[in-house]
Amino acid sequence: MTKPKVAFFDFACCEGCQLQVANLGEALLDILEVIDVVEFREVMSEKWNQSFDIAIIEGSITTNHAVERIKEIRARSKVLIAYGSCATIGGVNGMKNNYELKDIRQYVYQEKAEFFDTIPTRSVPQVVNVDYFVNGCPIYPPEFVRVLKAALAGLPYHVPDSSVCIECKLNENVCMYERGLSCAGPITRAGCNSWCVNNGNICYGCRGMVSNPNENGFKAVLEKYDITVDLIMNKMNMYNKCREIK
Ligand code: SF4
Ligand code: SF4
Ligand code: SF4
Repeated sequence: MTKPKVAFFDFACCEGCQLQVANLGEALLDILEVIDVVEFREVMSEKWNQSFDIAIIEGSITTNHAVERIKEIRARSKVLIAYGSCATIGGVNGMKNNYELKDIRQYVYQEKAEFFDTIPTRSVPQVVNVDYFVNGCPIYPPEFVRVLKAALAGLPYHVPDSSVCIECKLNENVCMYERGLSCAGPITRAGCNSWCVNNGNICYGCRGMVSNPNENGFKAVLEKYDITVDLIMNKMNMYNKCREIK
């Protein structure tokens, strides 16, 4: 039986999500039994110049060349998965959108600035149609496996649209607000099993905002702990700045 052809590609990113996949361990061996990985720069040098059953995209779109490249990959793929915050919501690369393009290009490339193309950072779904999403910075490995299985079976996967707080409460964590810290969990999409809070950190909103946040409830919490909405929104902007790009 022919296995589905799967290719991994990266755009502007730190490649941390690829590393999460490469480090999947036993789950990776199981996955490799049912798919044929034809491109994956982090782990192999071969190139595949034909079409793919599934293209898995990491990174955000930050140049005109990247726009052309992602469109070309989309045209060659039956199914496209965006994985990691950079790809799904723009992620940390979106912080570039806080500045004038000419200023940031000058700052980064200095006297060679004129030779480097740059555009406002966009997430992958802001440029091409995406079939499946694996949010997070980095991806939460069990969710990646769940999404890949769904894609291979042709089943839908819906990114949870409830808040991280729900998973956090189920994990019986002491709330960061009780510890004198502020946390973006109340307005951030679940699906990571409150990964950061379980490990003693706050949530920075890397999975993106829930579509219908409980604004009044959250404002009441912020008031109780004397924290401004601006402070939380500044934290959220670390990953979510691209939502302002139309
Ligand atoms: S989502 Fe985070 S870990 Fe993944 S590539 Fe982007 S910056 Fe790196
Ligand atoms: S605010 Fe943060 S620490 Fe508190 S319950 Fe929500 S996710 Fe957990
Ligand atoms: S807890 Fe928040 S910052 Fe950490 S992985 Fe989950 S969504 Fe991202």
